[in-house]
Amino acid sequence: MSSVTYPQRWDLEVFFEGGSQSSALKEHLEEYKKKTEAFAQNVHNFSVSEQNLDHKQVKELIEEAKQTMMGIRQAGAFASCLEAQDTKDTGANVLRGNITGLGAAFGSAFTAFQQKLSAVDEQTWSRLIEDEELKPLTFVLNEWREKSKERLSEKEEALIQSLGVDGYHAWGQMYNAIISSMSIKVQVDGEEKILSVGQANNLTSHKDAAVREEVHQKLEEAWKDHESLFSETLNHLGGFRLNVYEKRGWDNVLKEPLDLNRMKQETLDAMWGAIAKNKQTFADFLQRKAELLGLEKMTWAHLGAPISSESKELSYDDGAEFILKHFEKFGPEMTEFAQKAFKEGWIEAEDRSDKRPGGFCTSFPLDEQSRIFMTYSGSMSNVATLAHELGHAFHTYALRPMDPLNRLYAMNVAETASTFAEMIVSDAAVKEASSNEEKLSLLEDKVSRSIAFFMNIHSRFLFETRFYEERKAGTVPASRLNELMSEAQQEAYAGAVEDTSPHFWASKMHFHITGVPFYNFPYTFGYLFSLSIYARALEEGTDYEEKYMALLRDTAVMSTEDLAMKHLNEDITKEAFWEKGIALCVRDAKEFIELSAE
Ligand SMILES: [Zn+2]
Repeated sequence: MSSVTYPQRWDLEVFFEGGSQSSALKEHLEEYKKKTEAFAQNVHNFSVSEQNLDHKQVKELIEEAKQTMMGIRQAGAFASCLEAQDTKDTGANVLRGNITGLGAAFGSAFTAFQQKLSAVDEQTWSRLIEDEELKPLTFVLNEWREKSKERLSEKEEALIQSLGVDGYHAWGQMYNAIISSMSIKVQVDGEEKILSVGQANNLTSHKDAAVREEVHQKLEEAWKDHESLFSETLNHLGGFRLNVYEKRGWDNVLKEPLDLNRMKQETLDAMWGAIAKNKQTFADFLQRKAELLGLEKMTWAHLGAPISSESKELSYDDGAEFILKHFEKFGPEMTEFAQKAFKEGWIEAEDRSDKRPGGFCTSFPLDEQSRIFMTYSGSMSNVATLAHELGHAFHTYALRPMDPLNRLYAMNVAETASTFAEMIVSDAAVKEASSNEEKLSLLEDKVSRSIAFFMNIHSRFLFETRFYEERKAGTVPASRLNELMSEAQQEAYAGAVEDTSPHFWASKMHFHITGVPFYNFPYTFGYLFSLSIYARALEEGTDYEEKYMALLRDTAVMSTEDLAMKHLNEDITKEAFWEKGIALCVRDAKEFIELSAE
């Protein structure tokens, strides 16, 4: 089918020659260590009084911050790639440790700079942001000032940061330590196996129902055995967070996650409101899936079950051609960009055993290039993942003309370009399916993603909100956490699943991530937001690309409400907006239900 052969291993040598032992990288790190120290010293010496700001000095510090940040990110991206391509590369782990330390040192100097800068009065501030050269940074600068105003003093915040290392963040690490100390004993194909939690999780989508049942039960038992450790961990982590909020005078536990995602509470409420009203079709889908699996009603153990063993296989080159062919219908720039990525070694796709699982995209800001990591084994879902990561890379590409400080988009819009690209490919795959069985299996894949965002993530959000509310009054024991989780699942799955997974709160790492609170709703936001852009693109064809890229460029310089209003002319604080995206998913679920009745 295809005449070209694309490389399946990426080129990292263009950045630093010699992998984890690279002397160029070593020099780079030394240089940026010095730059970070110099920046911290300059921030320390930076003196501001309420009515006096030296604009020239501010600009120099901003420039210094930008350069330092990009250099550290460049090294961080390189280390991530090394770690992922070879899990046995111990040199990469050492590098990772050094770069994390460097990043933390830069982070605290940067926060201190923002706080110092924000301490001026209104008039002085207005003069600053009206400065011709700083005007493009107005949104970001105002955001720094808002953030600083709502926090405690520079000294108090610095104290919280430093206590958080062995307090707050330590609980997050403790969670990982407990998980890695656990092992699960199961029978697979007549053989007893001792598995890590991650390996056991992979078996929850095993084709054999007995294996799924057993793994589910063994995992639940394991969570139960450790529930007191997990509840200690979650309660202290949550308690630390609430304590800091209280000191800052914040009473809404959603304040921080909403601010980080640059969105309003009304927007979040409208999104969940629209989802809550549209659960029936997805409940029907789960019922049909249960029947296809020979069950009376869906149970937790079989949610991830595959319904068909038949799947199309595509060579890597054919997968690439499939992506390019369908990108072409949406725009020349995205197609050309993807072509370049395929040709010039931006992608690590080879199927090797020493690679890390999963996929990601990372960028090298000093070279304005990205790298994509995944393992390609020929399935249509691999092709979709590849398109997803290319979407992330295209987002970075679209942002190139922007100031580096105007490229720092939040988690909720981060998945916009990726979901968009993935949607192009998975939609095309369903349309081009050669048999009903293949079509059903592709549709099932698509609808399961909707179920994850509308039901599973919803249950996580409901649980987490309720947990934090109860935690304000004191420790929430494991038995109560189990109850809260079960209730949230019943509600979020609209009763479509017979049982619950009460220890889900212990099993999901996302509740224990301290870097980003509420690691759930931004996923659902990104998915639905992207769907409505996709619907727009379907209407407008290749002409839409220019508008699409303009939207991507604005993802880090305005609130999400403004972004949607400016580029889509939509009010996302209203349920009607969200319903449009949900309707596309309902259509897929209905098609599945109809097709599977035949
Ligand atoms: Zn992604």
